[in-house]
Amino acid sequence: MLKDSFGRIHDYLRISLLDKCNFRCLYCLPHSPHNKNGFQSKHESSLMTADEIERFADSFVKLGVKKIRLTGGEPLIRKDAKEIILRLSKFPVELTLTTNGSQIDEFIDTFQEAGIKSVNVSLDSLEAATFHKLTGRNEFEKVFGNIHLLLDKQFHVKVNVVVMNGINETDIRGFIEWTKNAPVHIRFIEFMPFPGNHWQPDKLITYKEILESIGDHYPEIEKLNDGVHDTAKKFRVKGHAGTFAVISTMSEPFCGGCNRMRLTADGKMRNCLFSKIETDLLTSLRAGNDITPLIVECLFGKHYMLGGHNEQQWATSHSESKERTMLAIGG
Ligand code: SAM
Ligand code: SF4
Repeated sequence: MLKDSFGRIHDYLRISLLDKCNFRCLYCLPHSPHNKNGFQSKHESSLMTADEIERFADSFVKLGVKKIRLTGGEPLIRKDAKEIILRLSKFPVELTLTTNGSQIDEFIDTFQEAGIKSVNVSLDSLEAATFHKLTGRNEFEKVFGNIHLLLDKQFHVKVNVVVMNGINETDIRGFIEWTKNAPVHIRFIEFMPFPGNHWQPDKLITYKEILESIGDHYPEIEKLNDGVHDTAKKFRVKGHAGTFAVISTMSEPFCGGCNRMRLTADGKMRNCLFSKIETDLLTSLRAGNDITPLIVECLFGKHYMLGGHNEQQWATSHSESKERTMLAIGG
């Protein structure tokens, strides 16, 4: 069993399959006037192979991991993504993934074969033009259609919406309307600062503001129970088939019950999304060493909150203070 120095059991591993993406989301990738995509992805030889991912998963599962989420970059554009999903499905874990939704139709059979029950899909707007502005791609219909494909096939679908003031905050109401008849679980995410994503305090719409704007139109909101490890505060508009939640990383961090660890696509373990340091597991694995002591040590160095960033300055800290992009860490 993996415990940090605060006694928190860690049984959830997020594995990034790839630090590349077919989308260009404003909030995720670094942007500058000279370089629209300032992110340099790693050379293929420095990425974990399918074999290595399986070996890492084996080590973590032996240490008590019960849930594995595949992420990226975009996990489903990796050439051997199907093979990796099927290999990991052999472990006694809840296997799931976070995707931008563009490739789901190609993978739906693999998801079923792998026994995946729940998928998180990012969709930040219900307007094709806003979707294009946010992602740099004209794929709203494709992603929306793929979410409905998942729903038709009885998957539990969570839709991740990063709310940015001045861009998509007017979509909040449409997302809530969607939950009326569709059993879809919307998660509004507070916009977080990462290098080059031009985060500014005035672009942040907080948990409270999101809730207030929903309450203006839907007076009958009920609070749902949140689990101890949940990052989202869950609600339902009375009578609606689906639910909504807010992930309040900026205004009300929820680190107390954290059970997550991360593995980047180049095999570095991070004990927190906001960690300032990482542990190179891949070099050690390739040298033939036992990686268990490194995993234990990395987790033991975990800070109680926010990767050791100062909580007082958190909601106003600026983007250049974080070391890796979301795309490179694996969101
Ligand atoms: N490509 C996949 C996707 O978009 O779902 C998986 C990787 S993405 C980095 C994982 C999640 O991180 C997405 O839900 C995305 O919306 C979220 N994300 C990325 N940048 C963010 C930011 N600056 N603030 C809040 N959430 C962010
Ligand atoms: Fe790609 Fe996901 Fe980042 Fe958008 S949020 S650029 S889809 S990795």
